[in-house]
Amino acid sequence: MDKTFGAGCLLVDGPMGSHIHNSHLVDTMITVNQKDWLATGEKFFGTDKKKWKFKCPVCGNAQSIEDFEKLGMSAKEAADYVYFSCIGRWSKGKIGTMMKKGKPCDYTLGGLFKLGELEVIGEDGSKGQLFVFADDNAMGELEKVSFKDPLDVP
Ligand SMILES: [Zn+2]
Repeated sequence: MDKTFGAGCLLVDGPMGSHIHNSHLVDTMITVNQKDWLATGEKFFGTDKKKWKFKCPVCGNAQSIEDFEKLGMSAKEAADYVYFSCIGRWSKGKIGTMMKKGKPCDYTLGGLFKLGELEVIGEDGSKGQLFVFADDNAMGELEKVSFKDPLDVP
């Protein structure tokens, strides 16, 4: 069973938890160190991680921890979901699905279809797939520091 990682572990101190890598996505995914990921987030969105924007790979919705907190979630819950599940899972009203276009939608990386385009390697060597930053320049910068060949990953 695939252990989904989350627990806001990238945005707070501590280990990231384990995650089984999905090899089907290697050709479309970029892999970066947590250190570079954090530095890039800070450069483009500032030091307040609650304002960092992440993009859903299905509907393209950009979402931040603040957006989830507005739905009544705790900061910790919000940090769990912000780069892992589309906010549409908790929004009221009409939302999209993978089959039926709509924004926001109910997509989550914890489901059957993993459309992650970004993999981050934590300080402890654990890996996690997550939503990309909702900023093309930020992602361009990450691509420059990414591991070109998955086999080069330390
Ligand atoms: Zn979505």
